Amino acid sequence: MNGDLFDAVLLDRDGTLIEDVPYNGDPEKVRPMPGAREALDRMRAAGLRLAVVTNQSGLAKGLFTAAQMRAVNARVEELLGPFDTWQICPHDDGDGCGCRKPAPGMVHAAAAALGTRPARCVMVGDIGRDMTAALAAGATGFLVPTPVTRPEEVAAAPHVARDLTTAVDEILRRQAAVRPVTPRRAGTVLVVRSDSAGDVLVTGPAIRAVAANADRVVLLCGPRGRAAAGLLPGVDELIDWPLPWIDGDPSPVDPDDMRRLTDRLAAVGADEAVVFTSFHQSALPLALLLRMAGVARISAISDDYPGSLLDVRHRVPVGVPEPERALSLAAAAGFGLPAGDDPTLRVPAARPTVVPSGEPYVVVHPGASVPARACPPQRCAEIVAAIAASGYRVVVTGGPAETALTSRVAAAGGTDLGGRTDLAGLAGVIAGARCVVVGNTGPAHLAAAVGTPVVSLFAPTVPFGQWAPYRVPLVRLGDATAACRDSRATRCPVPEHPCLTAGVDPAEVVAAVRLLTTGSDS
Ligand SMILES: [Zn+2]
Repeated sequence: MNGDLFDAVLLDRDGTLIEDVPYNGDPEKVRPMPGAREALDRMRAAGLRLAVVTNQSGLAKGLFTAAQMRAVNARVEELLGPFDTWQICPHDDGDGCGCRKPAPGMVHAAAAALGTRPARCVMVGDIGRDMTAALAAGATGFLVPTPVTRPEEVAAAPHVARDLTTAVDEILRRQAAVRPVTPRRAGTVLVVRSDSAGDVLVTGPAIRAVAANADRVVLLCGPRGRAAAGLLPGVDELIDWPLPWIDGDPSPVDPDDMRRLTDRLAAVGADEAVVFTSFHQSALPLALLLRMAGVARISAISDDYPGSLLDVRHRVPVGVPEPERALSLAAAAGFGLPAGDDPTLRVPAARPTVVPSGEPYVVVHPGASVPARACPPQRCAEIVAAIAASGYRVVVTGGPAETALTSRVAAAGGTDLGGRTDLAGLAGVIAGARCVVVGNTGPAHLAAAVGTPVVSLFAPTVPFGQWAPYRVPLVRLGDATAACRDSRATRCPVPEHPCLTAGVDPAEVVAAVRLLTTGSDS
């Protein structure tokens, strides 16, 4: 395993590699999609292995024979070049197999056949089933819509490209972006990630990339991210300081406080600094303080003109997953993850002490750091009742300020752990769970960091592909087309909060839990 993001690309056949001719058994009717051969050859040349992952229910329906399908597939390879593995589901809906997309079985099988894991694979397809299968296995998903792709499938997809060529451009660009052009070693590096727990956790892989190439790493975080920062591997020292240009509920700027912060930063004795931000935050005010503190080399993402504040001014297109966005800044600064360190989120998970061991359970976490991203309490209670009725034990988690919420939600049929864990303890509880039902908030990233599958009740206020739990098995629920989409609202601007109220059916949550825990949706 190298320090790259991806080892393999898995491609749907009909509607993605070749034109969709329903239930085609005739090799003469095989027509490649525009640009397919060239796009595939570029991926082969870049060292990516390729798989075809295709539902062929025409076999179960008796609409073509296995020999006819083999002839069609041979024609596909004749026109498009060789694939390293073919994964074909011969079943139909209702057969209850684990391979027919949206089940993730063929994504797992393709990864295994290629000697890798789903998290190191990209799946490219033209419909929602392809994306669901990819995400449920923990793979990256790229939707390339055709005229038959439904608008809600486009809205829900993690990444969308207008054609196969564009998808491959983006896959290769993302792969290259986390590779340092000029790898360096450094002495003491000050890394910065202010903001809340989730923001800190998604920066974890980038901080590990710096730590692997530096003698010492000092992390400047904010009070709301302090507990998460304390869990990150690779950090030698923490400085906790609120930054008024980052905090969502900021205090006025106090000149004395800024002077004390500058002195504290100078005392670190850093040779350089890497300032991580999310796409709507500015690194420049801190860069100015770092310059005043004597830091000689500063790297940050900035669309705004930085003048002499930055030595490495990095820019990233919108829609890139936050962990990769941060990794690409680390790479621009000269730091890459070493071979063997997969770019997943990672924190240590203590054995949970507040949950009896041995009995499988599902965590429901009803709270969110931002109200617009929380599923309403009543709907969360219905979800708890539905999961409990389906035979799973349910554990309801929340912070010390959320105990009224967790006790109300848990009363529907779960064990209330609200206020009984710190963040490290919560990591342990989540690590012991079969899966977690949670909105777009810190514990979703905590689940990714301990490798527990996530049913993501995702309000579309921010892009899903950017903020989804990273490289962990996942089902997205909630109305991706709701009017709050891309509003970045902290309070839902739409009456009744439809994206996570009408948009989340408890029966769908149960089906998602089943898909993530058994690999089958029936
Ligand atoms: Zn099947």
